[in-house]
Amino acid sequence: MLIKRLEQVQERIAKAAAKAKRDPETVTLIAVTKKFTQGLIREAYLLGLRDFGENYVQEFAQKYPELDDLIDARFHLIGNLQSNKAKKASEVFSVIHTLDDPKLARRLADTGVPLEILLEVKLSGEEAKSGVAPEDVPFLIDAVRQFPTLKLTGLMTMPPWSEDAELSRPYFARLRELAYKHRLGKLSMGMSHDLEVAIEEGATYVRVGTALFGPRTKA
Ligand SMILES: *Cc1c(COP(=O)(O)O)cnc(C)c1O
Repeated sequence: MLIKRLEQVQERIAKAAAKAKRDPETVTLIAVTKKFTQGLIREAYLLGLRDFGENYVQEFAQKYPELDDLIDARFHLIGNLQSNKAKKASEVFSVIHTLDDPKLARRLADTGVPLEILLEVKLSGEEAKSGVAPEDVPFLIDAVRQFPTLKLTGLMTMPPWSEDAELSRPYFARLRELAYKHRLGKLSMGMSHDLEVAIEEGATYVRVGTALFGPRTKA
């Protein structure tokens, strides 16, 4: 049951925050609802959740018309964004976690819609992953800051998947150091299996799907 799972996740967040001597209020739980229906999002909203993460612009654009009465909900794009979807994304999302290219910044700015922006940083050498290389972060920060409608707040990363959450720790620590260096306050990191480690390393947004909603059926 969702309410039970939500309590368990909140408990995990509270414990990890206590261990790290952090205020749990500084950690925002983003409920990742990709592949689930608008009905489930509404159910989660009624239980008090306000932040929702989706991976695909097209998929969420289909759910959004039935959710636009949830005026204090915040919808986060946590999946890769193609520039031809920037306009649609600006219409349905309020936070973009995956900006990784100056051209995309321009496309988003061109929409005129105020957006919170995080840069996705690629900290592992894996080929297929999106994200900006750490050495290109300063350049991308400057590119985003030219645009007054884009409010740059932080960095996001996805470590290579591993069952062992401890293997995520060096990536999370590295993201925290990078954000600190650039005076960015938000860190989007940690998922169902490694949220404790992420919180210990400073996460302010944790993105949790499976632990709340159960396994996603394969598309
Ligand atoms: C799907 C997804 C999540 C949630 O993953 P779970 O393991 O189900 O918690 C978090 N972040 C991103 C970028 C995702 O694509």
